[in-house]
Amino acid sequence: MDKRKVAIVGAGFVGSTAAYAMLVQAIAEEIVLIDINKEKAEGEALDLEHGIQFMHNAKITFSNDFSACAGADVVVICAGLAQKPGETRLDLVKKNAVIFKEMVPKLVSANREAIYLVVSNPVDIMAFLTLKYSGLSPNKVFGSGTSLDTARFRYYIGERLSVHPSAVHAYIMGEHGDSEFPVISNATIAGLKICDVEGYNCQMMMECYDKTKKAAYEIIARKGATYYAIGLVISKIVDAILSDEHHVMPLSVYLDNYYDEGGLCMSVPCVIGKEGIVKKYQLPLAKEEQDKLHNSAKILKDILKQVYP
Ligand code: NAD
Repeated sequence: MDKRKVAIVGAGFVGSTAAYAMLVQAIAEEIVLIDINKEKAEGEALDLEHGIQFMHNAKITFSNDFSACAGADVVVICAGLAQKPGETRLDLVKKNAVIFKEMVPKLVSANREAIYLVVSNPVDIMAFLTLKYSGLSPNKVFGSGTSLDTARFRYYIGERLSVHPSAVHAYIMGEHGDSEFPVISNATIAGLKICDVEGYNCQMMMECYDKTKKAAYEIIARKGATYYAIGLVISKIVDAILSDEHHVMPLSVYLDNYYDEGGLCMSVPCVIGKEGIVKKYQLPLAKEEQDKLHNSAKILKDILKQVYP
């Protein structure tokens, strides 16, 4: 790709932090911030532009018009309402569904070629609605899913076992939300089953999972929003697309037959490249992990019935 262009829809905490991460990491040559609040998008664009001297050269533009996503290789959707203290991600669904029904067709009429990465919550539902309202193929539309949760889980495990999080191969799968679950049966460090690593015990692992599950609530209760880690997650996913990296991350993808689950978007480990989702890996899950996957699917399907009957 010659000149890599990324459109970010929603220039709030998450969208503008993702733009910052992409600029610092030299992921794109052009970033357009699109927001119904034009002043907010303009303010963020100006602030980012003034740092160009210390980053790679990039063009940063802003708009309140969805057609500004034309020509982008990736469209990242972070628009919508954020989670309020005490509110679950699923509480947000109806409000954000209305926004997406109007917004997605406008984006797609300006750009059918891009890969669409959905971040707005509840991300599994929003990814599904974006897929349906766009009419694009399922490999081109997906959500960030449990990538952030997996990064948190690996951080906490790494902290407890004194290894860098990148050395921990363990996934959070299912819903990005309260029913997400850890896949412990095949988690490894340096090829060793995690249960054989010195320092491991079941209680420690459950504590890492518990902290992961509560992380968004804990952060939102203290500072009102989460944005640094998700900004880096977005930057990594976009980079994997733009550089056709075939990186493996858990993403909220359309499933047709994953442990017999289909007709919804939910997180499973995927290979990502310039065509979007290149492959989904069917992990060998333990029986109780399969039960948790079905539980997440049931919760999400019940919500989908309310917003996409
Ligand atoms: P925010 O309120 O700071 O930003 C949202 C932005 O969207 C605002 O600037 C608003 O003007 C804009 N917006 C609202 N409706 C719009 C529309 N119709 N068209 C264009 N722009 C519109 O919120 P935030 O903290 O940046 O969070 C954004 C979303 O990301 C939320 O849904 C939040 O829950 C989600 N989030 C997801 C993850 C994840 O892991 N998937 C992590 C953190 C936050």
